[in-house]
Amino acid sequence: MTKTHRTTIIATSAVLLIALVVSLPAEAQRRGGGRAGGMQDCAGVVADYTDQLELSPLSQGDIDGLNLMREEEKLARDVYLTLGERWSLPIFFNISRAEQQHMDRVLSVMDLYDITDPIADDTVGIFVDQHLADLYTTLVDQGSQSLIDALIVGATIEDLDLFDLYELINIGTNDHLLFAWQNLAKGSRNHLRAFISALDAQEGAYQPQYIDQDAYDAILASEWERGIVYDANGDVLADCGKGNRGRRGRGNGQGAGNQGGNGSGGNQGGPGTGTCDGSGNP
Ligand code: ZN
Ligand code: ZN
Repeated sequence: MTKTHRTTIIATSAVLLIALVVSLPAEAQRRGGGRAGGMQDCAGVVADYTDQLELSPLSQGDIDGLNLMREEEKLARDVYLTLGERWSLPIFFNISRAEQQHMDRVLSVMDLYDITDPIADDTVGIFVDQHLADLYTTLVDQGSQSLIDALIVGATIEDLDLFDLYELINIGTNDHLLFAWQNLAKGSRNHLRAFISALDAQEGAYQPQYIDQDAYDAILASEWERGIVYDANGDVLADCGKGNRGRRGRGNGQGAGNQGGNGSGGNQGGPGTGTCDGSGNP
């Protein structure tokens, strides 16, 4: 790869990531209040960090991980789109948009390392990995039974995503990948919180099937990670949602069954972080 080519890809990757982590809902932008400067700083911090990451060779495990997560994020997007149509639930459409961004994020790392995208056909429900294809069918069938089942499917997918991401974080050594995995996991934790909150509102319950109970309990007991960007080690790199957490917004977890609702679907910590984690309005 030529230096220029590589620089262009890194720059593109940085722009994609910044778009992913700093996008704000219209409401938050309207609130303004000096947030623009903070967002600028945040974008700069993230760009500077991305610029200094080294392009170290990928192992076969790294490549397998990229292929898996690229399609697993598609699984999440596709199931949520399908169940969103089945139940007319805003929470599924909102989170499906975040999953598209997660897919884009994985693709940006694959592009950086000239790895062929496993997704040749982006049609909903089509997967190269047979296990994911089967899982798509099983989860859509399950989620079509009832509203509560649909929300349980949402929690199941985030649970699976977290299990796989934590494993990739444990075995990973490449900072570009770790940087992506840490922030995808952040998104999944927020999505899990959103689905469980919506499930609570429907008096449904979920038991973790992939991550262990302690990890699951810790996620639900901790604050929503709105706008936080983690570095490759999982330490906070930037807080792009500063001042946007801790307030109780319009969403109160009741949105899941409200077909004409505001789409916050379980967003209980404030006006949301936009498409960054899918829990707020687009
Ligand atoms: Zn995701
Ligand atoms: Zn998710």
